[in-house]
Amino acid sequence: MIATNEGFWVFYLLDYEPNPGQECVLGFDELYGNRLARQILSSYLRNSIIPYSMIFSGPASANMLSFALAFAKGINCLEMEGDFCGHCRHCIEIDKEIFIDLNVLQPDGQNYKKEQIIYLVEDNYKKPLKAKRKINILKEAHKMNDMAANAFLKVLEEPASMNVFILLTDNLRAMLPTITSRCQTLKFSPLSSREIETSLKQKGYDEEKALLISYLGSTMDSALSTDFNQLMKKRDNILSILESLLTQKGTDSILLDLFNLGKSREKFLEYFAELVNILELLLRDIMILKIDNESNFVINIDYKNKLRELSRFITMEKTLFLIRKMEYLLRDIQRNLNVKVLLQEFMTSYSNNEVDYV
Ligand SMILES: [Zn+2]
Repeated sequence: MIATNEGFWVFYLLDYEPNPGQECVLGFDELYGNRLARQILSSYLRNSIIPYSMIFSGPASANMLSFALAFAKGINCLEMEGDFCGHCRHCIEIDKEIFIDLNVLQPDGQNYKKEQIIYLVEDNYKKPLKAKRKINILKEAHKMNDMAANAFLKVLEEPASMNVFILLTDNLRAMLPTITSRCQTLKFSPLSSREIETSLKQKGYDEEKALLISYLGSTMDSALSTDFNQLMKKRDNILSILESLLTQKGTDSILLDLFNLGKSREKFLEYFAELVNILELLLRDIMILKIDNESNFVINIDYKNKLRELSRFITMEKTLFLIRKMEYLLRDIQRNLNVKVLLQEFMTSYSNNEVDYV
């Protein structure tokens, strides 16, 4: 098992992506990642080809709303043609989402209500008050039942040249083909760790913090809005959990805490996904320190001594076992299996040395 995984883990341990470069696209500079989507949008603006309806499809972490707002600024900026200045009245109001000719909508409850869509249909016939074009951004646009989607089709079938519709979705397949076929679709990918790190540094974070958040933030909605102090507090707690697990001291109280959290399923799932992510990062560092006690590739650099100490309590095989096992555990918990039984089984298998499980 170890032999087959070794190559993968060495790659993972030293996973530094190539520098994506710092291409300059004027106002679009403030956006990170998704270079192709950025270039397409920028070229629409420069050539004054503004599609009436677009779909931005990609994961939540791709920050598609920022791209949609940038495009809205590019269309309506008072200072620039074909790009945006970021400081005129329109740009500022669009940024704050208070621009009078900007609608940013999200589902009212589980899905968009028919009334929300009817509002858009009616509003579509009204001229913008200040804008060159009125911008309508629909978050989670796939969350329309058939009734709402059919009502929305009316908007797409009767394009009004003074309007633009941008539909954001992380589930393109859930959208009706009659809607997707009438929109231009731009695909977005999650930001790479390197892109997140670069953007954080430019926002004034020091190197160490930027590196840490960029790794921890890749599975969060947006690493760019992470509260660093809160993240550090969580990491402290999770390090204590790891210590208990490795030294086999205080595991009962960990279980009790987790059981209590498990009472609210939604909160627990959110917490547990984050816990697995942070634990994996700590374990990754432990593996690195097992290979080289003085390695410079440690990400949790402020915990280096502590992690070095903990690395004595675990073998390489067991570290890999723990990472795999946690991923299975997260998957099973997400599948709605019994949290209490799964956690109990996890703790027992670890303390019983059941490395062969994987
Ligand atoms: Zn402007």
